[in-house]
Amino acid sequence: MKLVQLDTLRFAAHPNLLVLRLHTDEGVIGLGETFFGARSVEAYLHESAAATLLGRDPTAIRALERELADYYVGYLGTGAETRGNSAVNLALWDIVGRSLDRPVHELLGGPVRDDLHVYNTCAGYGYVQHEPSVSSSNWALPEDRVTGPYEDLEGFLHRPEELARSLRDERVSGMKIWPFDEAAERTGGTHIPDADLAQGVEIVARIREAVGHDIDVMVELHGLWYRPAAERIARALEPYEPYWIEDPLRGDDLEALAALTASTPIPIAMGETLAGRPAYRRLLDLRAVDIAIVDPVWTGGLSEAVRVADLAETAKTPVATHDCTGPIAFAACVHFSMSQPGALIQETVRAFHSSWYADLATNLPPIVAGRVSAPPGPGLGVELQPDLDERPGVTVTTSTVRDRS
Ligand SMILES: [Mg+2]
Repeated sequence: MKLVQLDTLRFAAHPNLLVLRLHTDEGVIGLGETFFGARSVEAYLHESAAATLLGRDPTAIRALERELADYYVGYLGTGAETRGNSAVNLALWDIVGRSLDRPVHELLGGPVRDDLHVYNTCAGYGYVQHEPSVSSSNWALPEDRVTGPYEDLEGFLHRPEELARSLRDERVSGMKIWPFDEAAERTGGTHIPDADLAQGVEIVARIREAVGHDIDVMVELHGLWYRPAAERIARALEPYEPYWIEDPLRGDDLEALAALTASTPIPIAMGETLAGRPAYRRLLDLRAVDIAIVDPVWTGGLSEAVRVADLAETAKTPVATHDCTGPIAFAACVHFSMSQPGALIQETVRAFHSSWYADLATNLPPIVAGRVSAPPGPGLGVELQPDLDERPGVTVTTSTVRDRS
């Protein structure tokens, strides 16, 4: 079996999303995906990765992974090369699974569980569907139009009790919110004014008053703070016992993160922005986190994510998979979680899952009563909608083995 064609798909409605399709000469098609800087990743895949991949045996996953990291630069962070290579790795696992007629989680070590509880990231339908950022300019809060029942960002800001009850009633185990981000943008993260601290904490307090401990609360800080301000937020949240605080600081000073983690009894979660084992090794050696978050489409693929999980296991640190990006990454995360003993919980965004994920793809991992399982079928299971290439606003770019000869 040989790789003969590499397609990328970009979407006007989801400009951060990049879908990869690898074709073999036996007609097997594997899907990959990554997020942010879609045009940069597209350029990397056609300009560089295609030369390594086309004409090659897709089952040589480890060898191809090694060769794709041999472009001399671009492998140390989560830049376009690493994100592109991550998408390739997913597509190769998908091909191997489909050609063996086995689901990917069986190839990653076999199932250690049949399902896993999910938490909901309280984003709305349009969250991060514009410029490549997570700042409030990309929150896509609905103005005066109701876009659906799951405008959960507007929900946590303005009606946290109702949102918490709605999620509890769907038996979702936790809810992730980011009530301090606007204050961080105003101050540059150097400090948090008392009124902003009180306003953010009040949202958590209202959730606790409404549903008690029937739902876990994750507080996302998006790496926007300097350490003293993040420590102050953590102290103020301690009475409400959040499930975790996520990304209190950027991941570029892990000693600072370790100091913060030591300063609070609240578990600290971090890692989705880190590339591969070298970064996670430092994170774990420094005891800088209580939960390691991993995103297979940013960290180097499913192969690297599994190795990160193994590394985390040696430090008795559970791993939690990211999902706020796209349907193929979500499926990959679920296969990861079904096969890794240390997988703690799966992130989901019900606004995405119920709307545009289903608009782009079929056979998504099913979520039933707050638990997600792998989709039936071989490979990653997820399939693109058959008419996707012909839809307006979809840009398909192709490299073939013939272009290379
Ligand atoms: Mg996050």
